[in-house]
Amino acid sequence: MLIGYPNHPRRNFLEEIDWIGKNKFNFVDVFLEEDEASLENINVLKSKVLLKSYGLDTVGHTAWYLPIGSPNKTIRLSAVNEIFKCFDIFRNLEVKLVTIHTDWASGLFSEAEAINFQSESLNLLNDKAREYELEIILEPTVSKHDTIENMEKILKKVPNISFHLDIGHANLNNNDPIEFIEAFHSKMKHVHIHDNDGIRDLHLPIGCGNIDWQKTISELKKCYDGTITLEIFSSDRDFVLLSKRKLKKLWDMD
Ligand SMILES: [Zn+2]
Repeated sequence: MLIGYPNHPRRNFLEEIDWIGKNKFNFVDVFLEEDEASLENINVLKSKVLLKSYGLDTVGHTAWYLPIGSPNKTIRLSAVNEIFKCFDIFRNLEVKLVTIHTDWASGLFSEAEAINFQSESLNLLNDKAREYELEIILEPTVSKHDTIENMEKILKKVPNISFHLDIGHANLNNNDPIEFIEAFHSKMKHVHIHDNDGIRDLHLPIGCGNIDWQKTISELKKCYDGTITLEIFSSDRDFVLLSKRKLKKLWDMD
């Protein structure tokens, strides 16, 4: 198991790598997002040198707010094109896995139509990603539509992508993270960890919400031994480091 941390996209990317490296994480979850970590603000050469100096690996993460599932085709394709632009930087930073988030069309559109909109975009993204030797992983977000059943439908329509389990998100809308682990154990390529109260997407340190971490990590360990990002958005990062210690302790328990 490898533990990573994301750069805060509104902070200087190099300084973020520096903090992540100094605190001995295994990898950076590269959040390519506005504004400090937008495409035009990333200095690829300097970032590579710094990542290497700390021995940090990378995984890729595109902005959650890109409307890949918009009912408007022009907007949908524009979001896809924005993500295409990220692929070059990801390849340069030696990324292999790229997270894309679900995006649900609402209003007058049915769930089946919303699945089709995103699946069409994901198929385009997947085809292009292969040219860059990248693999797309799908992360469910916070919508009530992000159910196991709907994720299975999307993965069926886009068969060559893998699953990104966000344990915090899987605790919302009366879902259970353990059921997600059971359903997607063979498709899981990356994991995000953070806590919440089951109602709001709070990105809290481990143990500050209502997730049963001992049980969840014990289930996860049975089928997964890859990259785990602590997606904890605490302004005091001591809480992130405490969560890192807690995760290691939980992982080492029988
Ligand atoms: Zn996440």
